Amino acid sequence: MKYEDYYTWQEDVPGFGREAQEKLKNASALVSRVGGLGGPLALSLAAAGVGRIILAHGGELRADDLNRQILMTHEGLGSERHDQAAETLRRFNRDLKIESVGENISEENVVGLVERADIVFSCAPLFEERLLMNRESMRQGKLFVDGAMCSMEGHVLAVDPGKSTCLGCLVKEPPAYWKRRFPVIGAVSAMVAQIAVLEGIKLLTRFSNPALDQMIHIDAQRMRMKKVRLVRDSACDHCSRIKI
Ligand SMILES: [Zn+2]
Repeated sequence: MKYEDYYTWQEDVPGFGREAQEKLKNASALVSRVGGLGGPLALSLAAAGVGRIILAHGGELRADDLNRQILMTHEGLGSERHDQAAETLRRFNRDLKIESVGENISEENVVGLVERADIVFSCAPLFEERLLMNRESMRQGKLFVDGAMCSMEGHVLAVDPGKSTCLGCLVKEPPAYWKRRFPVIGAVSAMVAQIAVLEGIKLLTRFSNPALDQMIHIDAQRMRMKKVRLVRDSACDHCSRIKI
C-alpha cells in the first residue's frame, strides 16, 4: 500500500484534498506528554497521516494511569511510557516516523525538541512545562497548540506565533492553586485532545481557519463548547519580539 491509499476519506472533506494531505505528510509534530490528553492526540495525528511525531514523556506506567492513557496496556505496567506509546503508534501507522524521548520538557531539552518540529502540542499537566514550550515555540516561530483539562472542563488554545495571542500573553506565572494531580475521566481528556488535533491540522494545512485569538472552552458537564475572545499582550515576553 502507498501512503496515499490510507487517506482518501479525509481528502474528500471539502477544502482538504491532496494538497492538505501532502502538508500533513511533510509535517513534524512534537507531543508532550502522551498521557490522557497527549496519548489520544498522538493517535489521531498518526491516523491523520502526520509524517513524523516526536513524543516526550518521562516515567513508568502505573495502574491508575490506565483510565485515560490509551496508548498503554496492562502488560506495560512498570515499564517506561514513552516506549509503549511509540510502539502503539508504530503498529497503528507503518508510514509514521517516530521518535520518543523518556523525558518531560525541561530547560535542558526544550530548545532541541522544538527545533525538530513544525508544530508543538503542549499536553503537560503543569504550567511550568506549558509556559516553557510556549516560550520556546514563540522564540523559534513554531505553530503551537496548548490543551488542558481538569475534571469536566477543558481548554484549547491554538497559536500562530507572532500573529495571535499566545499562552504567555494570558499567563505570566504558574498559578499557585494548580496542582499536579487533578480529577480526570479519560473520555474528557480524549475529547479535549481531538479538538486540539483539529486545530493543529488547521494550523498546518489552512484547509479551514483555526480559532486564533480565541480560547476554546469545553464544558463536558453541560455539553457546551464556547470560544472566548482574547486580546494579545503587546508587551508579552514570549511573542512580542517575533519578527514576521
Ligand atoms: Zn504572547
